[in-house]
Amino acid sequence: KKIVIAIDGHSSCGKSTVAKQLAKQLGYIYLDSGAMYRAVTLFALRHQLAGNGKVNEQALIARLDEITIEFRLNETTGENETFLNGANVEEEIRQLPVASHVSPVATIREVREAMVQQQQAMGKNKGIVMDGRDIGTVVFPDAELKIFMTASPEVRAQRRYDELKAKGQTMSFEDILKNVEDRDRIDSGRKESPLKQADDALILDNSYLNREEQLEWALTKAKE
Ligand code: C5P
Repeated sequence: KKIVIAIDGHSSCGKSTVAKQLAKQLGYIYLDSGAMYRAVTLFALRHQLAGNGKVNEQALIARLDEITIEFRLNETTGENETFLNGANVEEEIRQLPVASHVSPVATIREVREAMVQQQQAMGKNKGIVMDGRDIGTVVFPDAELKIFMTASPEVRAQRRYDELKAKGQTMSFEDILKNVEDRDRIDSGRKESPLKQADDALILDNSYLNREEQLEWALTKAKE
C-alpha cells in the first residue's frame, strides 16, 4: 500500500538527500516544497518585488496568480527540476540572492496558502515523499510516516562549508554558521506555520549518522 511520507526539519540537515533516496528505493515521487518557496522568491526578485533583504508583501500577494510552478523529470539525471512559468529555474533558485530572501517570502500567509494548496493536490495519489518545514503539521497532517530531521548547527554549517569548498567557493565558517542560525530563528519563530515537530513525528538526529545509516533507518520505518 502506498503511503505519504512527510520529512520536516532544519535547513541544511540533509532532508532532501534522505527524501530523494527514500523515494527512489520505494518507487515514490519526491517533491521538494522548499523549491516552491524559492521559485516564488525568484519571481519576486525578477519583478523588483524583493531586494536588499526586503520583500514588498502586498505587491507580491497581488501577483501570486501570475506564478505557475511545476516539477518536471530530467530524464538524464532521473531527478525532478523546478519550472517557473514554463522555464527551468532549478539552478537559479539555489543561488544566494534567492537563499537570502526566501525566509521572509515564506512568512507571508497568502504565499503559504497558495503553496500548501498545490502541495496537497500533488500528494493526493499517495506514493510521495515531500520535504519541508510544515509538511507533517500543515500540508499532510494525516501522513502515514512523519520524520523530523535535525543536526546541531555546527555539524550543518561544517557540511555546507565542505560542500562549498568542494565547488571551489569560499565563505568563512563563522558566516555560514551565522546563516544557518539566522534561518533557524526565522523558520522557527515566524507566526505562519513555524517549523515545529508534529506530535507524531519520529526524530532523526543525523549529527553522527552517515547517509547509508539514515536511509536504512527511514526505509525500516516506511515498511513498518
Ligand atoms: O528546504 P529549503 O532550504 O530549500 O527551503 C527554503 C526556505 O523555504 C526555508 O528556509 C523556509 O524558509 C522555506 N520553507 C518553508 N516551508 C516549507 C519549505 C521551505 O517555509 N515547507
